[in-house]
Amino acid sequence: MSENKIHCSVEQDGQRLLALHRYQILDTPEEPAFDDIVEVASLICEAPVAVINFIDRNRQWFKSEKGLGVRETPLDVSICAHAILQPGLFVVPDTTLDPRFSNNPLVTGHPYLRFYAGALLVSSDGYPLGTLCVLDYTPRTLSERQRFALQALANQVMAHMELMQAHREQAILIRDLKAMQSELSKYASTDPLTGLLNRRAFQQRLNQELALIKRGTHSAVLMLVDLDFFKEINDTFGHQIGDQVLVNFSKVCSDTFRQADVISRWGGEEFLIMLPMTTVDEARNVAERLHETLDATPIFDEDSLPIYLSVSIGICALMDCSTVEDSLQRVDSLLYRAKNNGRNCTLSEF
Ligand code: GH3
Ligand code: MG
Ligand code: MG
Repeated sequence: MSENKIHCSVEQDGQRLLALHRYQILDTPEEPAFDDIVEVASLICEAPVAVINFIDRNRQWFKSEKGLGVRETPLDVSICAHAILQPGLFVVPDTTLDPRFSNNPLVTGHPYLRFYAGALLVSSDGYPLGTLCVLDYTPRTLSERQRFALQALANQVMAHMELMQAHREQAILIRDLKAMQSELSKYASTDPLTGLLNRRAFQQRLNQELALIKRGTHSAVLMLVDLDFFKEINDTFGHQIGDQVLVNFSKVCSDTFRQADVISRWGGEEFLIMLPMTTVDEARNVAERLHETLDATPIFDEDSLPIYLSVSIGICALMDCSTVEDSLQRVDSLLYRAKNNGRNCTLSEF
């Protein structure tokens, strides 16, 4: 078989190359697990040179080598490229007597390789990827035990590569799962229309905050905001514009409250906000700013249709003696009184 014919058949072997590239082993650094196998192959076969070698498109590349001092060589000097064309162990007792290798520059010149034995590295789907081979400077052969050991070690190379691949795939799966999990938890915790926290997520945050307050670390305030006469907006302008008003109002809230404040869409047109490290007086100032903003700017101003909005607000302190239910009841009754007071106003506990 001529050199050319072999290279050609290797080059055309697209499926085999795909299988090799799937392992993502080419051009990776040396690793102790592979170096150990090469060392043991060299020891057991009593050979000065041992190599884990993969036949790439136009080179042979060594994952690990002992006694050669290079990580890759061109394909036209490769003995392994011949080895992968036949099943089982490939043994060349004397390279100078084999017409396929007698003119090979590694045989005729440095390092004057005379003996070759290579055990196939076969992918899980049956493609020969390369060999675990041992070489010597004198003609010789391998005992039955050595042949068995060389093939067993080659199998271990592949077993290790399979494990590495499974590990990689698992890492990708875990990454995808985590991304999906975070997407799902975002869905589970936010209101789809406004993007604000939903009732469930807010309640969780409220529980956490109350636990901190009970430990005496800080104070916080609860603020319940209800849009005034929102039903009229829906009835007059349609549900879609009503939706847009809710979205725009949530943006006004995000601009008005601090980063640390927790804003939720508590129900249809009710927004519940928790302001950590805040007194009732400070919260009243924030509420006042909200009233002023809504007074000054239309909440919807498209198609020359300015819609103004007002809100009623209840404010109560979150206290170390209160429960979530109790706090919600208190803030709700303050809002109710604000509505009865004529709307567009804030009522607080103190
Ligand atoms: P009040 O000043 O007493 O709060 O009057 P109101 O009209 O704001 O309150 P009411 O409870 O009578 O009506 C609230 C309306 O909010 C009724 C409901 O259809 C509307 N609504 C609730 N959720 C949504 C929503 O997601 N989109 C739209 N467009 N409307 C909603
Ligand atoms: Mg309302
Ligand atoms: Mg309401």
